[in-house]
Amino acid sequence: MSMFKDIPVEVGVIYEGERIRRNDMQVELGGPTVKEKFELAKVLPMDAVEDGKITIIGPDLKDLKEGGAYPLGILVEAAGKTLDAGLEGVIERRIHGYLNYIEGFMHLNQRYDVWMRLGKKSFQKGMNSFEYIGKVLYRLFKSELPIIEKVQITFITDPAKISAMYPAAVADYEARDSKARGLKDSEVDTFYGCALCQSFAPSHVCVITPQRYSNCGAISWFDGKASASIDPKGPVFAIPRGEIINAEKGEFSGVNEAAKKRTMGEVTQVWLYTAFDHPHTSCGCFEAVTFYIPEVDGFGVVNRSFKGATVNGLPFSTIADSAAGGRQIDGFHGMSIEYMRSKKFFAADGGWNRVVWVPKEVKERVKEFIPADVVDKVATEEDATNIEALKTFLKAKNHPVVARWEAETAPAVETAAAEETVAAEGQMMPVMTAASLPIMAGGFKIILKDAKIYANKVIIKTVKDEKAK
Ligand code: ZN
Repeated sequence: MSMFKDIPVEVGVIYEGERIRRNDMQVELGGPTVKEKFELAKVLPMDAVEDGKITIIGPDLKDLKEGGAYPLGILVEAAGKTLDAGLEGVIERRIHGYLNYIEGFMHLNQRYDVWMRLGKKSFQKGMNSFEYIGKVLYRLFKSELPIIEKVQITFITDPAKISAMYPAAVADYEARDSKARGLKDSEVDTFYGCALCQSFAPSHVCVITPQRYSNCGAISWFDGKASASIDPKGPVFAIPRGEIINAEKGEFSGVNEAAKKRTMGEVTQVWLYTAFDHPHTSCGCFEAVTFYIPEVDGFGVVNRSFKGATVNGLPFSTIADSAAGGRQIDGFHGMSIEYMRSKKFFAADGGWNRVVWVPKEVKERVKEFIPADVVDKVATEEDATNIEALKTFLKAKNHPVVARWEAETAPAVETAAAEETVAAEGQMMPVMTAASLPIMAGGFKIILKDAKIYANKVIIKTVKDEKAK
């Protein structure tokens, strides 16, 4: 495409969903081994932004040792006559989509969880500077979101500078989230959907409501509304709520219709307030994942940055794999941290009364939203590192789930629990690591699903965004 003639590699929607394996990577930026990393968008006054300026603070791509992982901060500063701070979340989330257009470049997650890889092949073709990445971002921002009149982009790899900027970025995310709290699902007639993750999870549509953030934790209902209004053909779209089919479980006719349409019939029914029966699908970029623990009839939660094994003996990566890929898995639910602050957080399953184990870091972050009568009864890794210890803890604290155990007869609980453990462990084996495998061919994107085992479905999508090709 002529717009990217001076970029050493191709840029186009066709490269979305491209995975870069460890062996094929030149460098990793952010990701699980790097503690501080971020991407942030800020809206500034017109005269504070120099249009097209790209700044690199710290070593450039060509100076980073092959195979290493490095901290990275990306700061996008935009200005425009009708642009306001309410659009920062929308602009920031586009970084994900745009960077994935670059051949041999992978961008995952968001905010303080970003994880990027540059492939060796693209590096060898000359993609060796953030200058190019900045140019791609700059041109896509300007052409896709005309509301942005000026934009300057800064890449920071200097760890000291990242540490200095990090707290302010985190404070910005929190300020954005807190502004979006308060409105109820029942008070609006429009929800929003996000299909940004379909390149990695073809049957996933995020349903964003006032009381349910996107799984990635980066798009509130207000962001969804803003995004759909400034870019109606973009990845975020309005979902007329429709009729309330089930207020308790969170089933709405408009959501079911949108899911059916956007997943090509794969998902036809979604319950927003429960992890069971028709749970919301999980993409791959969720901030945390809930996992059902049959032995105690409660939920555990693990976030992306949690190191080591959770209370059921499995790490985040294994639990995330068993939920990810756009499927509806009973008892497993990829979600945002912000959803844990919502009154609708698994409301149909008992909400916080059903949560038994949460990493300490997450518990601290959401503490003031946990009902006072249960907050001390939710275990962390400091209270329990295995199921037996968890049972003892919950019993000693008289956690609300204990009453559920007593509702059944003791011997039945023992046998049922033992059987369920085996089944659950079987399901959690990493058989779904390649949940989707996209193949690019002549203007079509062919996605082979569950390709590790066999292709049980082939989805052929026309390349929608001709502009970016
Ligand atoms: Zn996602």
